[in-house]
Amino acid sequence: MTLSAFRTLEPLAGTGHPVVFRIRFACPCGDEHDGLVSHDELDWAPLGLEGGVFLNLMTSRVEPIATELSELAAAHIRAGEWPWSFFCYPEERPRPVFPSSFFVLAPGDGALGLGVRCPACRRTSVNVVSHEHVDVPFHNDREVGVVEHVFADDVQATIEEFRAELWSARFDARRLTLE
Ligand SMILES: [Zn+2]
Ligand SMILES: [Zn+2]
Repeated sequence: MTLSAFRTLEPLAGTGHPVVFRIRFACPCGDEHDGLVSHDELDWAPLGLEGGVFLNLMTSRVEPIATELSELAAAHIRAGEWPWSFFCYPEERPRPVFPSSFFVLAPGDGALGLGVRCPACRRTSVNVVSHEHVDVPFHNDREVGVVEHVFADDVQATIEEFRAELWSARFDARRLTLE
């Protein structure tokens, strides 16, 4: 299953550091189903990494705890390339991100609407991206569509608002070049 088949992701309540996410995904059978994925499966498995590496999104530094880093992924990251990124609308800047910060995905018109909870400012943004942008680590669209709308903090309300607004909203193209 590819990340772009996910429809919603929600960390299960219980701890300050969510380790398990309840996901809803689009199944090849045509229905959507619920499942559980761990934080590691979401963020590290697509990179061929095991857990035990801490990528500090605030300082943009890799802080390895274990030595099981995939060489290729490590080389990319040290060169300043990020496996995933998005454009934070409230902050007006691109940010690196991990799939565990995605919370809603909606396909349409050959593209993918992507709701992201910013790991830095905690606010939500909606980008319109290619499927590859989500599914292929280190493939970052040069430009993404940005929905010029600040969404509510309440996740359920946001998801409904997102679905209602997304494909009728006006997008603005922003460059996704990370410094
Ligand atoms: Zn199915
Ligand atoms: Zn932000």
